Amino acid sequence: MLLPPFDHQGRMLRGNLHGHCDHSDGVLSAQQVTATYRRLGYDFTCLADHLWSDSSYAATSVNDTRHLDSDDFVTIISAELHCPGKSIDSHGLWHIVANGLPLDFAMASENETGPQMVQRALDAGAFVTSAHPEWYSLTSDEAASIAHAHAVEIYNHTSTIRAARGSGVATADYLLNCGHRALLTASDDSHFAVDDAGGGWVMVAATLDQAEIITALKAGRYYSSSGATINEIELNGDRVTITCSPAHSVVISGAGHQARAEVGTNITKASFDLGNFKSDWFRVTIVGAAGCAWSNPYWLADYR
Ligand SMILES: [Zn+2]
Ligand SMILES: [Zn+2]
Repeated sequence: MLLPPFDHQGRMLRGNLHGHCDHSDGVLSAQQVTATYRRLGYDFTCLADHLWSDSSYAATSVNDTRHLDSDDFVTIISAELHCPGKSIDSHGLWHIVANGLPLDFAMASENETGPQMVQRALDAGAFVTSAHPEWYSLTSDEAASIAHAHAVEIYNHTSTIRAARGSGVATADYLLNCGHRALLTASDDSHFAVDDAGGGWVMVAATLDQAEIITALKAGRYYSSSGATINEIELNGDRVTITCSPAHSVVISGAGHQARAEVGTNITKASFDLGNFKSDWFRVTIVGAAGCAWSNPYWLADYR
């Protein structure tokens, strides 16, 4: 059987879940940001401007981008939520991306905790992601405290090119190893101070509608990319087969250090026997010359 999102009939939508404009600390206007993503061939983008009281980089209201929507491109009402209580970070603030927020979603109070803010965003109906864990040294305890969020940003493009700390793989795998059903996202976190658009995105199995996209994201019906393509992941019994853009490494990752890999040149199909794989779940990573692609985790019990 084809695993989601590859069982989807029709084209998948390309989108950026995390970016900024001059509503907060981005360089470009919302209109310019949207035009940039349209030009790059995206179907949707999220102006996830900082929602916090410090006017040097944040706004106190959610950015209303509905006027930028059209028949062939949509924006999703989003914000990067902040509140105090994060250790290590120089501002001491949590960074949580919420996609699909109501416009009247309120800025956190000084007393709200990170886990409470995540819950409030979930209650408001948003797809909630723990942003750039490596960039701001999210601790394992902090990650576990917000494990009720849907996803972990495992690739943040601007943190990769501007700070060389763009990964969230260790955080996501920590949560998976603890039994949490964490999804994975790749995003730009574009601010346009440098050329940081078009480096990390999601491919979503949905029609071009904000609510449909949010529903698909919550259900994990998407994969993430920084340049590679996954065409299909098929599971037949214990055998998983992946077809993808030309890769030099196709990797299956599971609990602990469980892994299977095919390594070579221009691999476009790889097949693995998971009969001996000592893990309840697996996820797929493609590594190619132009970047990576990451599936969401699959729990084998769901497909048996
Ligand atoms: Zn941030
Ligand atoms: Zn950001």
